[in-house]
Amino acid sequence: MPADKEHVHHFKEEGGFEMDISMKRESIDDPFTEVPPAKEMTVFLRQHIGKETEPLVKKGDPVRYGQKIGDLEKGGPMVVPVHSPVNGTVKAIKKLRHPISQELEKAFIIHTEDHGTDPFYEPMNFMGNSREELIDRVREAGIVGLGGASFPTHLKLSEEKKISHLIINAKESDPNLACDVRLMMEKGQEMIRGIKLMGKMLKVDNILFATRTKKGEVPGFEKLLKKNGIQISRIRPNYSVGSERLLVKEVLDREVPSKGFPPSVGAVVHNVATAYAVSKAVLDGESLVSRGLTLYSKETGGKNLWVRMGTPIEHVLNRCRTTGKKFERIAIGSIMMGPTIPNASYPVMKATSGITAFTRSEPSPYKKQKPCIRCGYCNTVCPVDIYPVLIMEAEKRDDRKMIKKYHAEDCIDCGLCSYVCPSYIKLTPHLRKASFIASKDG
Ligand code: SF4
Ligand code: SF4
Repeated sequence: MPADKEHVHHFKEEGGFEMDISMKRESIDDPFTEVPPAKEMTVFLRQHIGKETEPLVKKGDPVRYGQKIGDLEKGGPMVVPVHSPVNGTVKAIKKLRHPISQELEKAFIIHTEDHGTDPFYEPMNFMGNSREELIDRVREAGIVGLGGASFPTHLKLSEEKKISHLIINAKESDPNLACDVRLMMEKGQEMIRGIKLMGKMLKVDNILFATRTKKGEVPGFEKLLKKNGIQISRIRPNYSVGSERLLVKEVLDREVPSKGFPPSVGAVVHNVATAYAVSKAVLDGESLVSRGLTLYSKETGGKNLWVRMGTPIEHVLNRCRTTGKKFERIAIGSIMMGPTIPNASYPVMKATSGITAFTRSEPSPYKKQKPCIRCGYCNTVCPVDIYPVLIMEAEKRDDRKMIKKYHAEDCIDCGLCSYVCPSYIKLTPHLRKASFIASKDG
């Protein structure tokens, strides 16, 4: 194993992991069904990657649908506010286990009084508002990247570098998700408006719509793209191509440097569902309090649902005539990268693009780990050409020098190394930690 081999980037997946398996195919034909809110909604004060917000309302206060209830303006640009998903009353503010960080974090418990959806903000005008006003609305509406990363959208739209291309990421790599394709089928007009607004904020005319769908699969939406001068870029269905860096390489053949971001090579990438949320925030005055997601289990099949943030997953399962008690394991978001939650009481968050539930009788990847047999398969499959097993070992012994030497910061957290390991070793959590250390140490 060439441990000290000079690092060369190959941001290209060669493994041929075409993850468009039966789960996705089963879900694509199911139109969105709206899930009404639960009697009690749980809204975490942090649903983005920055610092936790502070409550703007207290126990006993009435709240309106879409009202800003948490913010921290002095917390820096990585913070975005959170909003009430219902008309109701704040029943409590308490610390609960956060479904993503798994730490105890503050959450509002809101008692739902009615299901009204009158927008909280005034609609804005496409042409009549300045770039700054539009970006400010995107922050105020609490928009983060809905592909799963929860990066604040207003920050990416405020890019001051010269950008040649806006890439809309409709790759939807995860085998358990089909909600982005459904959005293309059902909310095409709104999505196009959102994409154009993003183009205006970034001052970019070249917009590429990157999709794994084949020609004619979403005919109405394809016509809309053409009519609005948005070019379709059909990309390979390989799993990791949906990650931002690999997508830039795939679409523009530009290599995003180590520790760099797409703007350093003139590109900005936004998720397709985020474009829809931008359109709703600007043109309809809607805060980000609901989203489309795909629920998949063998029992329910694939279901595309429109769910308000804060809805307990048990409530979502009940609406689909099942319960969390039937399942041994529930994964949220991306099945390859998202966390598994211990029970169905956890709420839907801004980043929850999917829910996948498995019974005891289904094969589980959580088998007892065996010793590493040095097969090297994890290294071979890694789409960014780093050495997962060596980085994992360096992270375990806190060897920062080797973590940096092996370029842990390039890990895109795709989960493929854990997926292929014949010894069932969970490499990805170690890679995540090592990547954080390498990026922080500079
Ligand atoms: S998660 Fe594993 S396979 Fe994926 S980029 Fe990171 S090290 Fe490579
Ligand atoms: S795939 Fe698993 S067993 Fe093979 S080298 Fe990597 S960690 Fe070791």
